[in-house]
Amino acid sequence: MERLQKVIANAGIASRRKAEGLIEEGKVKVNGQVVRELGTKVSDSDDVEVNGVLLEKETKVYYLLYKPRGIISAATDDKGRKTVVDLIDIEDKRIFPVGRLDYDTSGLILLTNDGDFSYALTHPKFKVEKTYVARVKGIPFREKIKQLQKGIMLEDGKTAPAKVKMLSEDKKADKSIVEIIIYEGRNRQVRRMFEAIGHPVQKLKREKFGLLTLHGLNAGEYRKLTTHEVKQLR
Ligand code: URA
Repeated sequence: MERLQKVIANAGIASRRKAEGLIEEGKVKVNGQVVRELGTKVSDSDDVEVNGVLLEKETKVYYLLYKPRGIISAATDDKGRKTVVDLIDIEDKRIFPVGRLDYDTSGLILLTNDGDFSYALTHPKFKVEKTYVARVKGIPFREKIKQLQKGIMLEDGKTAPAKVKMLSEDKKADKSIVEIIIYEGRNRQVRRMFEAIGHPVQKLKREKFGLLTLHGLNAGEYRKLTTHEVKQLR
């Protein structure tokens, strides 16, 4: 949701100040109704008309990328390193990742130019399931796994309950493969959770985001989301 005057200004019709004037003069309609209230917020689904002309909507795009390790998940990097946006072959680069994966984490990340969509998927209150597979040092005891399941105290507070499943353990190499499903998206959360039980993560991959998987993609590859997938996620 954005303020009406910002939407008009972003469309290149008028400056923000001028847009405010147009609103106050009754020259702006939202979904066919004149709106004079400057604080009015509109979303992408609203039709905005200025002086009888409908504002064109930016075409929304949605990509699912299999992020390789060693790539920054941001729209730009001030050190000039490669970002997830650089991996998407489109001209209009006004897209950004939905949430973050660490530089060293691989796996599923979404990219879009749709701010409302991104907000809905990253805000903790919407509780999207994120499935990770971690290779961790050592073999965690069942008690430790239970701690992760119940929620564990980190610097920034207790984590919400998580689903945790041991997939395999290798006593000789002193490492385990663990699946963990979390509903939050705090900074380096999975790494910090395993660190807290004394089994640091050696390798981390996000396998799923909601119902979406990496099926059919190799690291560095991407595809567009279908209209159905976008609807399902919202
Ligand atoms: N948790 C982490 O620790 N790292 C990620 O990249 C994602 C979740």
